Amino acid sequence: MRFAPRCAFGAPSSVPSDNHVRALLDPASPDHFHPVFAEVVAELERSDGLKDFRQLGDHVLIALDGTEYHVSSKVRCRHCSTRKRGQDKTEHFHAMLAATMVAPIHRAAGRPRQAGL
Ligand SMILES: [Zn+2]
Repeated sequence: MRFAPRCAFGAPSSVPSDNHVRALLDPASPDHFHPVFAEVVAELERSDGLKDFRQLGDHVLIALDGTEYHVSSKVRCRHCSTRKRGQDKTEHFHAMLAATMVAPIHRAAGRPRQAGL
């Protein structure tokens, strides 16, 4: 008997590929994730999980970073954004804006310590 590992999505691999994850998530409307975000933030507030990230007068600092996670002149899907390059080349791409909570001095286990140390 031969063991053929499968990922949680049924693909014949233990790790789903980028393309497989995109194929599963692209049809999902971002509206489905909005309630989840609100629930996670509410739970963080209830459990005091944001306490160590509060800085500068009780604010939570959010770093924003834009990136493109797919760029190709050949591979595209119906959700791709496009841009012209030169006279006759078109690039297809997917971009995202990532938000990350940051704390210059993150207190772990009740002790002040420098982030990244
Ligand atoms: Zn696409």
